[in-house]
Amino acid sequence: MCSPQEAGMKVVGVRMVTRSQGRGLAAGLHESGKESAPLQKGEAASEGRQSHHTMKRKRKTQRLRVAYEAMDGDGEKDRRVEPFQTLGGWEPRDWRQQLENIRAMRSRKDAPVDQLGVEHCYDSGAPPKVRRFQVLLSLMLSSQTKDQVTAGAMQRLRARGLTVDSVLQMDDSTLGTLIHPVGFWRSKVKYIKQTSAILQQRYNGDIPASVAELMALPGVGPKMAHLAMAVAWGTVSGIAVDTHVHRIANRLRWTKLPTKTPEQTRATLEEWMPRELWGEINTLLVGFGQQTCLPVRPRCQDCLNRALCPLAQGL
Ligand code: SF4
Repeated sequence: MCSPQEAGMKVVGVRMVTRSQGRGLAAGLHESGKESAPLQKGEAASEGRQSHHTMKRKRKTQRLRVAYEAMDGDGEKDRRVEPFQTLGGWEPRDWRQQLENIRAMRSRKDAPVDQLGVEHCYDSGAPPKVRRFQVLLSLMLSSQTKDQVTAGAMQRLRARGLTVDSVLQMDDSTLGTLIHPVGFWRSKVKYIKQTSAILQQRYNGDIPASVAELMALPGVGPKMAHLAMAVAWGTVSGIAVDTHVHRIANRLRWTKLPTKTPEQTRATLEEWMPRELWGEINTLLVGFGQQTCLPVRPRCQDCLNRALCPLAQGL
């Protein structure tokens, strides 16, 4: 398990910032141990159906007026407008109330992800680039693996001093023994070794600061890349969608049509969800999925959303 000190290192809900700002902010946050600013509430967007063409054109126009600070490092000045504004066009019925209900159900923050998630499994006393490497490593370990198992593996690795160099000096058998029983641990040994070699050769032992470069690393998928950008760099680059977010978004009809993959879900959520929420949604829904909206036999009788949930209503 991670230490209580580390449990105070959350960066969930990080602000939208420019990439260059994000690096400084992330380092500052992690070094000081302070949480990021809370998200703000705002007004609803207009409703109503429009043609696909009109929606697309409107969405493009409204992207320029979203309440966040440009994150593409394009030199444009910040544009601030009313927060919680959707991007126009389609949005799910009741999503605001459903979200508030989930926040209420998650208010105790006592799900496994709240204590053992990636934000809590790096060494807070390590140099910034070591911390970022540890964030990426814990994400690589976490796929198809319970938070408790990932945290245990990270604890064993950190006890040996977890850096790019230490991983490269470790033989595969030792690395496998340390990370076992995380899911697909044999493949992960291979990916971790390959990724560590690339980080040493191309990034001076640090991790890259873009989704595209992160996803080019062996064993790193879109969810990991977006979470690494948020936790390691303090930049919200997209919604991190894992199986919990994918399942719950479909159950609540937060996707316009049923989606088959987390990537499809991410794309459709990002079409309507206000960008101020993108950094919050992963941890919020993962914990909700761990405690209430379980994969099998969800606890609908205990859920504040049961009257608003299409699945629970048999719709
Ligand atoms: S009512 Fe049931 S299926 Fe719907 S969100 Fe709640 S737990 Fe999940």
